[in-house]
Amino acid sequence: MARAVMTPDDVRAAADRLDGAPAEDVLAWAAEQFAGRLVLTCSWQQQSSVLIHMTRPHADAVRVVELDTELLFPETYATRDRLVERYGLTLESFRAEHTPAQQEAAEGPALWERDPDRCCFLRKVLPLERALEGSDAWITGIRRAQSATREGARAVEWDEARGIVKVQPLVAWSDEDVKGYLFAHDIPYNPLHDQGYPSIGCVPCTSPVAPGDDPRSGRWAGTAKTECGLHLPRVG
Ligand code: SF4
Repeated sequence: MARAVMTPDDVRAAADRLDGAPAEDVLAWAAEQFAGRLVLTCSWQQQSSVLIHMTRPHADAVRVVELDTELLFPETYATRDRLVERYGLTLESFRAEHTPAQQEAAEGPALWERDPDRCCFLRKVLPLERALEGSDAWITGIRRAQSATREGARAVEWDEARGIVKVQPLVAWSDEDVKGYLFAHDIPYNPLHDQGYPSIGCVPCTSPVAPGDDPRSGRWAGTAKTECGLHLPRVG
Protein backbone atom coordinates (compact mmCIF):
# COMPACT_ATOMS: atom_id res chain seq x y z
CA MET A 1 0.00 0.00 0.00
CA ALA A 2 1.32 3.47 -0.87
CA ARG A 3 2.49 5.62 1.97
CA ALA A 4 0.08 8.35 3.05
CA VAL A 5 2.36 11.37 3.12
CA MET A 6 1.15 14.36 5.09
CA THR A 7 1.74 17.88 3.85
CA PRO A 8 2.32 20.87 6.16
CA ASP A 9 -1.31 21.89 5.47
CA ASP A 10 -2.51 18.42 6.53
CA VAL A 11 -0.47 18.79 9.70
CA ARG A 12 -2.02 22.18 10.49
CA ALA A 13 -5.50 20.70 10.02
CA ALA A 14 -4.62 17.79 12.29
CA ALA A 15 -3.25 20.19 14.89
CA ASP A 16 -6.49 22.21 14.76
CA ARG A 17 -8.44 18.99 15.40
CA LEU A 18 -6.16 17.51 18.05
CA ASP A 19 -5.01 20.49 20.11
CA GLY A 20 -6.97 20.07 23.32
CA ALA A 21 -7.75 16.39 22.69
CA PRO A 22 -6.80 13.84 25.35
CA ALA A 23 -3.22 12.62 25.01
CA GLU A 24 -4.48 9.06 24.42
CA ASP A 25 -6.50 10.27 21.42
CA VAL A 26 -3.49 12.04 19.92
CA LEU A 27 -1.45 8.86 20.24
CA ALA A 28 -4.22 6.70 18.79
CA TRP A 29 -4.43 9.02 15.77
CA ALA A 30 -0.65 8.90 15.30
CA ALA A 31 -0.49 5.13 15.67
CA GLU A 32 -3.15 4.67 12.99
CA GLN A 33 -1.74 7.33 10.67
CA PHE A 34 1.93 6.31 10.89
CA ALA A 35 1.92 2.67 12.05
CA GLY A 36 5.42 1.21 11.75
CA ARG A 37 6.89 4.57 10.75
CA LEU A 38 6.43 6.21 14.14
CA VAL A 39 9.27 6.75 16.63
CA LEU A 40 9.07 7.56 20.34
CA THR A 41 12.26 9.31 21.41
CA CYS A 42 13.08 8.93 25.10
CA SER A 43 15.27 11.15 27.27
CA TRP A 44 14.15 9.25 30.41
CA GLN A 45 12.65 12.32 32.00
CA GLN A 46 9.16 12.07 33.46
CA GLN A 47 7.48 12.66 30.10
CA SER A 48 9.23 9.55 28.74
CA SER A 49 7.78 7.50 31.58
CA VAL A 50 4.26 8.72 30.78
CA LEU A 51 4.63 8.12 27.05
CA ILE A 52 6.14 4.66 27.43
CA HIS A 53 3.10 3.64 29.50
CA MET A 54 0.62 5.38 27.22
CA THR A 55 2.00 3.93 23.98
CA ARG A 56 1.87 0.29 25.13
CA PRO A 57 -1.56 -0.31 23.53
CA HIS A 58 0.08 0.73 20.24
CA ALA A 59 3.40 -1.05 20.82
CA ASP A 60 3.37 -2.69 17.38
CA ALA A 61 3.08 0.71 15.70
CA VAL A 62 5.77 2.56 17.64
CA ARG A 63 9.55 2.13 17.72
CA VAL A 64 11.08 3.15 21.07
CA VAL A 65 14.49 4.81 20.79
CA GLU A 66 16.89 6.62 23.09
CA LEU A 67 19.55 9.15 22.23
CA ASP A 68 22.29 8.06 24.61
CA THR A 69 24.90 10.81 24.86
CA GLU A 70 26.88 8.54 27.23
CA LEU A 71 26.93 11.56 29.55
CA LEU A 72 23.62 11.04 31.32
CA PHE A 73 23.11 10.75 35.09
CA PRO A 74 23.31 7.29 36.70
CA GLU A 75 19.72 7.88 37.88
CA THR A 76 18.67 8.41 34.27
CA TYR A 77 20.19 5.13 33.12
CA ALA A 78 18.63 3.36 36.11
CA THR A 79 15.22 4.80 35.19
CA ARG A 80 15.65 3.55 31.62
CA ASP A 81 16.50 0.07 32.88
CA ARG A 82 13.47 -0.01 35.19
CA LEU A 83 11.13 0.99 32.35
CA VAL A 84 12.66 -1.53 29.95
CA GLU A 85 12.16 -4.26 32.51
CA ARG A 86 8.66 -3.27 33.57
CA TYR A 87 7.28 -2.94 30.04
CA GLY A 88 9.50 -5.47 28.25
CA LEU A 89 10.61 -2.80 25.83
CA THR A 90 12.57 -3.48 22.68
CA LEU A 91 14.75 -0.39 22.91
CA GLU A 92 16.94 0.97 20.13
CA SER A 93 19.92 3.03 21.33
CA PHE A 94 21.54 5.68 19.17
CA ARG A 95 24.89 7.18 20.18
CA ALA A 96 27.43 9.56 18.74
CA GLU A 97 30.07 8.22 16.39
CA HIS A 98 32.69 8.87 19.09
CA THR A 99 32.65 8.00 22.77
CA PRO A 100 33.21 10.93 25.15
CA ALA A 101 36.89 9.89 25.45
CA GLN A 102 37.28 9.76 21.67
CA GLN A 103 35.53 13.12 21.39
CA GLU A 104 37.99 14.60 23.89
CA ALA A 105 40.92 13.25 21.87
CA ALA A 106 39.50 14.68 18.64
CA GLU A 107 37.99 17.97 19.85
CA GLY A 108 39.79 18.72 23.10
CA PRO A 109 38.49 18.51 26.67
CA ALA A 110 35.02 19.61 27.82
CA LEU A 111 33.61 20.50 24.41
CA TRP A 112 30.31 21.17 26.20
CA GLU A 113 31.92 24.19 27.89
CA ARG A 114 33.66 25.61 24.83
CA ASP A 115 31.08 24.86 22.13
CA PRO A 116 27.91 23.25 23.51
CA ASP A 117 26.09 23.60 20.19
CA ARG A 118 28.71 21.42 18.50
CA CYS A 119 28.69 18.96 21.37
CA CYS A 120 24.87 18.65 21.14
CA PHE A 121 25.12 18.36 17.37
CA LEU A 122 27.54 15.45 17.63
CA ARG A 123 25.94 13.67 20.58
CA LYS A 124 22.21 14.38 20.06
CA VAL A 125 21.28 15.85 16.70
CA LEU A 126 23.22 13.46 14.45
CA PRO A 127 22.07 10.38 16.40
CA LEU A 128 18.47 11.66 16.12
CA GLU A 129 18.81 11.94 12.34
CA ARG A 130 19.87 8.28 12.23
CA ALA A 131 17.08 7.28 14.61
CA LEU A 132 14.44 8.92 12.41
CA GLU A 133 15.65 7.47 9.10
CA GLY A 134 12.73 5.82 7.30
CA SER A 135 10.15 7.26 9.69
CA ASP A 136 7.34 9.69 8.98
CA ALA A 137 6.65 10.93 12.51
CA TRP A 138 8.20 11.12 15.96
CA ILE A 139 6.60 11.43 19.35
CA THR A 140 8.16 13.87 21.82
CA GLY A 141 7.38 14.79 25.41
CA ILE A 142 7.40 18.54 24.84
CA ARG A 143 5.00 20.50 27.05
CA ARG A 144 4.11 24.18 26.82
CA ALA A 145 4.61 24.54 30.57
CA GLN A 146 8.29 23.62 30.33
CA SER A 147 9.59 27.00 29.16
CA ALA A 148 8.79 30.24 27.33
CA THR A 149 10.45 28.81 24.21
CA ARG A 150 7.90 25.99 24.15
CA GLU A 151 4.72 27.88 24.96
CA GLY A 152 3.61 27.92 21.29
CA ALA A 153 3.98 24.16 20.87
CA ARG A 154 1.04 22.20 19.43
CA ALA A 155 -0.15 18.59 19.62
CA VAL A 156 0.93 18.00 16.02
CA GLU A 157 3.58 19.98 14.18
CA TRP A 158 5.49 19.84 10.94
CA ASP A 159 9.22 19.56 11.58
CA GLU A 160 10.29 21.63 8.64
CA ALA A 161 14.00 20.95 8.98
CA ARG A 162 13.54 17.19 8.82
CA GLY A 163 10.39 16.93 6.69
CA ILE A 164 8.67 14.84 9.33
CA VAL A 165 5.65 15.15 11.63
CA LYS A 166 6.12 15.76 15.36
CA VAL A 167 3.47 14.36 17.67
CA GLN A 168 3.31 15.93 21.13
CA PRO A 169 0.47 14.35 23.11
CA LEU A 170 1.43 15.97 26.43
CA VAL A 171 1.70 19.49 25.04
CA ALA A 172 -1.06 20.89 27.29
CA TRP A 173 -0.10 18.96 30.42
CA SER A 174 0.96 20.76 33.60
CA ASP A 175 3.59 19.46 36.01
CA GLU A 176 0.71 18.29 38.20
CA ASP A 177 -0.87 16.38 35.32
CA VAL A 178 2.39 14.51 34.77
CA LYS A 179 2.90 13.70 38.43
CA GLY A 180 -0.74 12.66 38.82
CA TYR A 181 -0.52 10.24 35.87
CA LEU A 182 2.75 8.72 37.10
CA PHE A 183 1.34 8.09 40.56
CA ALA A 184 -2.07 6.88 39.32
CA HIS A 185 -0.38 4.19 37.22
CA ASP A 186 2.60 3.55 39.53
CA ILE A 187 5.04 4.24 36.70
CA PRO A 188 8.82 4.37 37.38
CA TYR A 189 10.23 7.86 36.83
CA ASN A 190 13.54 9.65 37.16
CA PRO A 191 14.15 10.34 40.89
CA LEU A 192 16.12 13.48 40.07
CA HIS A 193 12.79 15.22 39.46
CA ASP A 194 12.26 15.03 43.23
CA GLN A 195 15.73 16.45 43.94
CA GLY A 196 15.44 19.88 42.31
CA TYR A 197 15.85 18.87 38.67
CA PRO A 198 12.66 19.69 36.73
CA SER A 199 14.57 19.25 33.45
CA ILE A 200 17.29 16.62 33.10
CA GLY A 201 19.93 16.29 30.40
CA CYS A 202 23.64 15.47 30.43
CA VAL A 203 25.59 15.66 33.69
CA PRO A 204 27.92 18.51 32.61
CA CYS A 205 25.04 20.72 31.43
CA THR A 206 22.33 20.15 34.04
CA SER A 207 21.97 21.89 37.41
CA PRO A 208 19.22 21.85 40.01
CA VAL A 209 16.95 24.91 40.09
CA ALA A 210 15.34 26.79 42.96
CA PRO A 211 11.60 26.28 43.52
CA GLY A 212 9.61 28.64 41.29
CA ASP A 213 12.43 29.27 38.81
CA ASP A 214 12.07 28.56 35.09
CA PRO A 215 12.07 24.74 34.95
CA ARG A 216 14.65 24.72 32.16
CA SER A 217 16.96 27.31 33.73
CA GLY A 218 19.15 24.48 35.01
CA ARG A 219 20.02 23.43 31.45
CA TRP A 220 23.23 25.06 30.15
CA ALA A 221 22.96 27.46 33.12
CA GLY A 222 24.96 30.65 32.69
CA THR A 223 24.84 30.48 28.87
CA ALA A 224 22.35 31.76 26.29
CA LYS A 225 21.68 28.21 25.09
CA THR A 226 18.16 26.94 25.83
CA GLU A 227 17.62 23.99 23.46
CA CYS A 228 19.83 21.13 22.34
CA GLY A 229 18.91 21.44 18.67
CA LEU A 230 16.50 18.51 18.49
CA HIS A 231 13.47 20.80 18.49
CA LEU A 232 14.02 23.16 15.60
CA PRO A 233 11.67 25.78 14.09
CA ARG A 234 8.29 24.31 13.29
CA VAL A 235 5.18 24.75 11.22
CA GLY A 236 1.90 23.59 12.71
S1 SF4 B 1 23.79 18.60 26.81
FE1 SF4 B 1 25.96 19.20 27.15
S2 SF4 B 1 27.16 17.30 27.31
FE2 SF4 B 1 25.12 16.79 26.45
S3 SF4 B 1 25.42 16.77 24.26
FE3 SF4 B 1 24.71 18.85 24.78
S4 SF4 B 1 26.56 20.10 25.23
FE4 SF4 B 1 27.17 17.89 25.16
